[in-house]
Amino acid sequence: MEQFLGVLEARVTKFALPVLPGGFVLFKEFHQPSSAQEAVGLRHNLLRAAYLGGGTILNALDYEKMVPEEFRAECLVSLESLPVRQIELTSEELVIGAMVTHQEMLESEQVFPVLKEIVGQMRNRNIRNMATVGGNIALRSSNGNISVGLLAMDANIEIMLPQCEASSAGEVLENSGQAQPGKINVCRKVLSLAQYLEGVETVPGLKEALILKVHIPRAIGEMRFATRCYRRTANDISILSADVLVKGTAGHIEDIRLAMGGIARHAARLTDIENMLLEQGLPKDRDELVSAIRPLLHTVSDVRGSAEFKREVGAQIAAWSVYKALGQI
Ligand SMILES: Cc1cc2nc3c(=O)[nH]c(=O)nc-3n(C[C@H](O)[C@H](O)[C@H](O)COP(=O)(O)OP(=O)(O)OC[C@H]3O[C@@H](n4cnc5c(N)ncnc54)[C@H](O)[C@@H]3O)c2cc1C
Repeated sequence: MEQFLGVLEARVTKFALPVLPGGFVLFKEFHQPSSAQEAVGLRHNLLRAAYLGGGTILNALDYEKMVPEEFRAECLVSLESLPVRQIELTSEELVIGAMVTHQEMLESEQVFPVLKEIVGQMRNRNIRNMATVGGNIALRSSNGNISVGLLAMDANIEIMLPQCEASSAGEVLENSGQAQPGKINVCRKVLSLAQYLEGVETVPGLKEALILKVHIPRAIGEMRFATRCYRRTANDISILSADVLVKGTAGHIEDIRLAMGGIARHAARLTDIENMLLEQGLPKDRDELVSAIRPLLHTVSDVRGSAEFKREVGAQIAAWSVYKALGQI
């Protein structure tokens, strides 16, 4: 549950949240702002507030069990009325609004096949109907399917946060300037998903960021790809996943991206392996690649499997995905 703590964090007080019989948490306040600026202001000024996306986590029956009391949200800031539900394909990029659901991505004609395949890894259709892309990123879970895929795609995210000075990460797109009465100074920025995932715990202000949009370079849609995940049952959340995007051939790899879920605290790129493949080409024997990947996987033992088991399966599915993307399987 460690991964939830960061995002569900708000300013901590010692209240106990009212819990109804059956474990339902009763949130004390519900706000439905109509602009991103208003949402950021509410999240900033309310005690123990959280943005509400699709609510698959915040409204989960076991929310109260999943999140320690001191990190639970008490006020919800709904993103329902914000204009961040569009999918747009331009000559440069694919732009996906934070409130777009997994099912909407799957049904869109504009979304790249690789992203659809990754979205499809979330097998539970009821969850796909509600779960948003923004919520998936904000959770920063070790094995969030979309986050892993977007990391391989070198995606950027557009965020809004209070006060530009608070966070050094990313490029400022818009600064609302001096705060007006009743409003706060907000800043709209773009940064890489990698910067966001790595920076949330350390870069001031990022934890409070409202994710607005995801930007994926259009060239990604032209790359060959393979994705694979490992889960206990068909309907389970992935324990491990590997997404590979490649340009070129097995004999001449021009560009390769390998991202994995379930092997680190959040989605991770295996840049050492990418560089090895670019410099030395594809090994003749797949086991050679498995051996190179294995020591890079920092897995942990939990209810879903031992660290050793996950390291072995992780190395196998990563190597398989590389060979598959290059047409060698
Ligand atoms: C039964 C079940 C199955 C699941 N299966 C999978 C699976 O196969 N793969 C997978 O990756 N995940 C899975 N999940 C996890 C989760 O549903 C998804 O990661 C989902 O995308 C979360 O999005 P949401 O909109 O529902 O988030 P919410 O529950 O609304 O919010 C989750 C967190 O993100 C924050 N947040 C939401 N939107 C934003 C935003 N725009 N900006 C900033 N912060 C925001 C919230 O404040 C909260 O802290 C599953 C969950 C359940 C309950």
